[in-house]
Amino acid sequence: MINPAAFEKWETPFYYYDLSLLKETLGVYTSCLNKYGYHAHYALKANANDRILEEIRLAGLGADCVSGNEVTLALQSGFDPQKVVFAGVGKTDKEIITALKGDIFSFNCESIPEIEVINNLAAGLGKKARISLRINPDVDAHTHKYITTGKAQNKFGISHWMFDQVWDVVSRCTHVQLIGLHFHVGSQITNIGVFKALCHRVNEFQRWFVNKGAELPVVNLGGGLGVNYHAPFEHRIVDFNSFFELIHQNLIVLPGQEVHFEPGRALVAQCGYLISRVIYVKKGRGIKFAILDAGMNDLIRPALYSAHHHIVNLSSKGRDMRYQVVGPVCESSDRFAKSVLLPQTQRGDFIALCTAGAYGQVMAMRYNQRDIAPAYYSDQL
Ligand SMILES: *Cc1c(COP(=O)(O)O)cnc(C)c1O
Repeated sequence: MINPAAFEKWETPFYYYDLSLLKETLGVYTSCLNKYGYHAHYALKANANDRILEEIRLAGLGADCVSGNEVTLALQSGFDPQKVVFAGVGKTDKEIITALKGDIFSFNCESIPEIEVINNLAAGLGKKARISLRINPDVDAHTHKYITTGKAQNKFGISHWMFDQVWDVVSRCTHVQLIGLHFHVGSQITNIGVFKALCHRVNEFQRWFVNKGAELPVVNLGGGLGVNYHAPFEHRIVDFNSFFELIHQNLIVLPGQEVHFEPGRALVAQCGYLISRVIYVKKGRGIKFAILDAGMNDLIRPALYSAHHHIVNLSSKGRDMRYQVVGPVCESSDRFAKSVLLPQTQRGDFIALCTAGAYGQVMAMRYNQRDIAPAYYSDQL
């Protein structure tokens, strides 16, 4: 893979992004979209680096935002407002006003009080807000509990037992225009059957609203498609073809309706690496610790979700030995791997944590007063 000599010029730790892989991934993704006439909004929260956003915008995708600042960033980055959507259970008045003034495509509304607030604020600005209803379909994403969002007990979305009441509110609110239903059931979904179950729920719910007399020009199935963290080099690009074929087979699209998606992780995870160096190799009881200069503040996924990241020693060709790979932060959860085989490792070796392009750098923090790791790109090598 990467020749570590090229990294000597940069102080570790840093994020490294392979832009050619990103472009290739976007090429495959957009050709699938075009095949079926589908549309996509990229979930900015996965990675909001300017170079990444630029590639995604140039590929023709819109932006899926979950905060007012993300809406502002999307607009400043040149995304067409008509391709910006805004989800989230806790949109503040200030955030809603930002989005109304920006004339975004749609608010994905998650509750009745939110619809009422958007209606009032839109009235105050003399506008009519396009809204989609984020439905909680009570589908189990079979993923980590912290990234499951579509079960009845989760805070996200509107449950079907509230439909009558929601329909009344939407009909009464003259400054909102319902344009469709929105769904997002979780993240890192690797069991594609989950999306089949989702499609069946979507069909059922759309029928309910159509029977009420609703026009639904858009249906949005959200994101959530998982990537392979265990064998990143064998699975560089997600099998988008199978995913879209399954949607095409199972989703009942209403006449003239646009189908939207909100991919995040699946587009950017594999193109990013967290590159660090070994500071010390320390003997422990029955295991050797490889202590990196990258820590949980740089990449929190292992500590937060017990997530696995494939680890590569870029510098050593020695025989395989077992290591516990940890960071320098003063927390026992600051650990990237409990027990992993690596070629014999020593101080100064370059270590790559793979599949770090999504929910990596965006979640970096300054705990222990550590510096935020910078980003470098393949065309800077
Ligand atoms: C996070 C999020 C996404 C993207 O999820 P991925 O698992 O990264 O594809 C899409 N839509 C909404 C509403 C989200 O919150």
